Amino acid sequence: MLDCKLCGEVSFTRYICDDCNFIKDCINIYSKETVIDVIKRTLIRDEKQRTYKIDSIVKERLSNELNNEDSDESYIRGKHHDLIKEEILSKFGKNK
Ligand SMILES: [Zn+2]
Repeated sequence: MLDCKLCGEVSFTRYICDDCNFIKDCINIYSKETVIDVIKRTLIRDEKQRTYKIDSIVKERLSNELNNEDSDESYIRGKHHDLIKEEILSKFGKNK
């Protein structure tokens, strides 16, 4: 058995899986620098972007809780935006 050198997927015949081979093809076509730049600009988020994303998750969660009649109201009553945001930030390894 062989492990894909990039993602670790197990294969019996190849050292690089189809998905990672696609990434390799992109690198061959666009250059490694371009692929890394695209990944950084689309997948990697800075602090401001993370905060924006967390705020949108919190708003969505609050909206879902408030619109769901079957939800546990005591759960949402005891929490407000900042507490939920704090919970989510702690999941991301942030203390504030
Ligand atoms: Zn792979």
